[in-house]
Amino acid sequence: MTDRKILLSEKEMPTRWYNIAPDLKTPLAPPLHPATHKPLGPADLAPLFPMEIIKQEVSIDPWIDIPQEVLDILKLWRPTPLVRALSLEKALGTKARIYYKNESVSPAGSHKPNTAVAQVYYNKKEGVKRIATETGAGQWGSALSFACALFKLECQVYMVRVSFDQKPYRKLMMQAWGGNVVASPSELTEYGRSVLKSDPQNKGSLGLAISEAVEDAVKREDTKYSLGSVLNHVLLHQTVIGLEAIEQLKSIGEKDPDVIIGCVGGGSNFAGLAFPFLKDKLKGKTNPRVIAVEPMSCPTLTKGLFEYDFGDTAGLTPLVKMFTLGHDFMPPGIHAGGLRYHGMAPIVSNLAKDKVIEAKAYHQTECFASAVLFARTEGIIPAPESSHAIHCAIEEAKKAKEGEVIIFNLSGHGHFDLAAYDTYLSGKLEDYEYPMEKIKEALKKVPKVD
Ligand SMILES: *Cc1c(COP(=O)(O)O)cnc(C)c1O
Repeated sequence: MTDRKILLSEKEMPTRWYNIAPDLKTPLAPPLHPATHKPLGPADLAPLFPMEIIKQEVSIDPWIDIPQEVLDILKLWRPTPLVRALSLEKALGTKARIYYKNESVSPAGSHKPNTAVAQVYYNKKEGVKRIATETGAGQWGSALSFACALFKLECQVYMVRVSFDQKPYRKLMMQAWGGNVVASPSELTEYGRSVLKSDPQNKGSLGLAISEAVEDAVKREDTKYSLGSVLNHVLLHQTVIGLEAIEQLKSIGEKDPDVIIGCVGGGSNFAGLAFPFLKDKLKGKTNPRVIAVEPMSCPTLTKGLFEYDFGDTAGLTPLVKMFTLGHDFMPPGIHAGGLRYHGMAPIVSNLAKDKVIEAKAYHQTECFASAVLFARTEGIIPAPESSHAIHCAIEEAKKAKEGEVIIFNLSGHGHFDLAAYDTYLSGKLEDYEYPMEKIKEALKKVPKVD
């Protein structure tokens, strides 16, 4: 009999994070100061992040030790199961073996606590009392509120207005963990007040909420800022996912995967699974296909430009070289809220530019159809974000050769996204492809950097 769940014991958990930076084909382009366009120094980032995080952001050490205190908390839910999707395989009649890493088992229901715990730990260690952040669908805000509760730090969350109104349960989750949540744009910051003055009904965006959280952190001595995706240190913290998966596949004598898949918003859960596998690919030892999957309505990797751009709407963050749809791109209200970001992690962008990884974009209705098939075979109701990875895995499995191994990341569950399932199941879900003219329009706003 084939085991369904491949488990590791707590003793077998990785004790170091894998840093892909030194193994990249092309070195990363340095982040630039938003005003001077000169490369940033650690001092420029000091108002926002604790020093240890800044060191990780620019580190070229291939391995970085995970502090014992962080490991002790991660063990609340890690190591996460690697699951052989036997029932899904049977339903598809595929020749492939499909595995998924189940990151939905964390307290917040996604992969995001993997970095939230580490980030809050370093802030606490350097005497920070309060952390400000933004959240879109609420996944990151809840992960950070959870981590702040465990380390007893105050957590201020700027939540995109449209989600704040439509997703009361994640807001309540943050509050249960003691987080302070406000709808963005808010009256708490100068930028928020200026937006509300010209547009009182503004529904917000992730870029706008980032501007508010950054302003909050810069203006208060006791506060730092925290980001749930995109940055190098966030991707680093997520590599526990792939490091565990490698051990899990080894433990059952499975071969190296042929296809590795993750959905991408800012790129962190994809990176977490894929980077440890890419270590061998970058050395020429293996050659798996590695696929980043995004929504057709926010096609950063498939239709964006590889340019320096701001991470936020107001232009307060450093300029980073990444695939971008332009920093004032306003994504349509699709249900995979976590995938609605105009940019992409610089490291994921670098790998896509160098063709080490490939990118695919899908419509939300086909992803929901795959999510429902997954729920009715494997049992777990996936997050709409994760359904993009599932859909890609299913497409790959349908055309797979005998014995092909496919692995994807199940980044979270969809228990707080049932309204989206309702829309899909009642036949009201619509597809939206971002028109090329509108993309060209937004791309005109990308700053000129020499
Ligand atoms: C936030 C989120 C994502 C997208 O963020 P990445 O940084 O690209 O991983 C994907 N899935 C879930 C469940 C999320 O909460």
